[in-house]
Amino acid sequence: MGEEGAYARFCATVDAASTVAGISDPSLLERIKTPERVHEVSIPLVRDDGRRELLTGYRVQHSSARGPYKGGIRYHPNVTVDEVKALAGWMSIKTAVVNIPMGGGKGGITVDPHLLSPRELESLTRAYTERIWRVIGPLVDIPAPDVNTDSRIMDWLADEYGRQSGLADPAVVTGKTVEHGGSLGRDKATARGGFDVLEAALNAAHEDLRGKRVAIQGYGNAGANAALLLQQAGAVIVAASDSTASLVAPDGLPVEELIAYKGRGAHFCDWTTFERKRADSPLYEDVDILVPAALEGQITAENAERVSARWIVELANGPTTPEADDVLARRGAHILPDILANAGGVVVSYFEWVQDLHSEHWLLEEVEARLAVVMRRAYDAVTALATEKGISMRLAAYAVALQRIAAAIREAEVAPRRSVSTMIL
Ligand code: NAD
Repeated sequence: MGEEGAYARFCATVDAASTVAGISDPSLLERIKTPERVHEVSIPLVRDDGRRELLTGYRVQHSSARGPYKGGIRYHPNVTVDEVKALAGWMSIKTAVVNIPMGGGKGGITVDPHLLSPRELESLTRAYTERIWRVIGPLVDIPAPDVNTDSRIMDWLADEYGRQSGLADPAVVTGKTVEHGGSLGRDKATARGGFDVLEAALNAAHEDLRGKRVAIQGYGNAGANAALLLQQAGAVIVAASDSTASLVAPDGLPVEELIAYKGRGAHFCDWTTFERKRADSPLYEDVDILVPAALEGQITAENAERVSARWIVELANGPTTPEADDVLARRGAHILPDILANAGGVVVSYFEWVQDLHSEHWLLEEVEARLAVVMRRAYDAVTALATEKGISMRLAAYAVALQRIAAAIREAEVAPRRSVSTMIL
């Protein structure tokens, strides 16, 4: 972790952007930063060998000013309430940047899921759902996948919610398998949204993706799909890492082969045909584009000087600390900030929710076309403000979001609460 806790970093960035957003009322600012509710739950788990354990989980409901809480659930040994509060806050900002009618939330369990059997993983997910089902719901709070959680886990969550509440409604969770009400295109949505934003930014700079050298930190849902899209567009993926090691190949890595390899549960530290380096080495490779797609707090004051990429596409949440931001900005790096660059996932999650509520099934082309429109609008709004004020994309994205959240809070104070809106585009 970087210089300070993730939630403090979230608050610091909101504070910095509040002036640009024209928010001068300290009580309004405090309300925007502070989570509406923080749920901590104990989760009983019976291991396969009969041992009983009690784990800790969270669901933080940060803001419902613009709609139901929305945000993923993370299974990771380093999950803390501080981290989940930051991630929930970033979700509120993100849904506002892309202007979908939702708020922000996040959940997590402090656990290393790689040490659990499939039965234990399902049992843990169902026990967590049993603890939180009363505070989530299709019009209240809609979870989704995040680090170490996937569509199968979301299916279990939806099923357990139905058992507990007596209301079997797929709209309670997004990121499900397509067979259980998931949307086509959700699996690649985060990467595709980041790709759309990068393409727009490169076009504006009169640059081309073809031949660009790329390093990817984190080869999971976000990172591996980004590798695939970038390679298909003519970029060369020269480095990629998982939590065990990175693989480096100046002529390009076999992206699809690596996806299949990771799909079998294997680790990069066991791959033998490419040069292997430490898991953080993609940050320091001599590349044009760096895609941090692992965890928060990766580029810090300590290592930012060693990051030489000109373009940084933040698919991970909070990978760059504010101190590192300053170092990178001085060097002239273009940072496409997380709350914009990785928002494609929540946009298609929102599409999935709309489809479930209306019993619709959109074609993949339709999902991708709508996503491109939403990402482009968000990119345009953020770049317009960044250019007008001469500020970073990150500050501009926060300011755009803060203006929208503040407007929703003020509106709710003078008018009755709007019904939940599922109108899009
Ligand atoms: P994932 O679990 O599918 O993949 C994470 C990858 O990062 C794995 O390959 C893991 O081995 C690797 N990793 C973990 N620690 C690492 C380290 N220290 N160094 C190098 N690699 C490491 O998770 P994901 O869903 O792809 O999420 C990755 C990031 O993107 C997270 O910050 C998440 O919050 C963010 N994000 C994901 C989505 C989504 O839709 N999946 C949406 C928005 C943001």
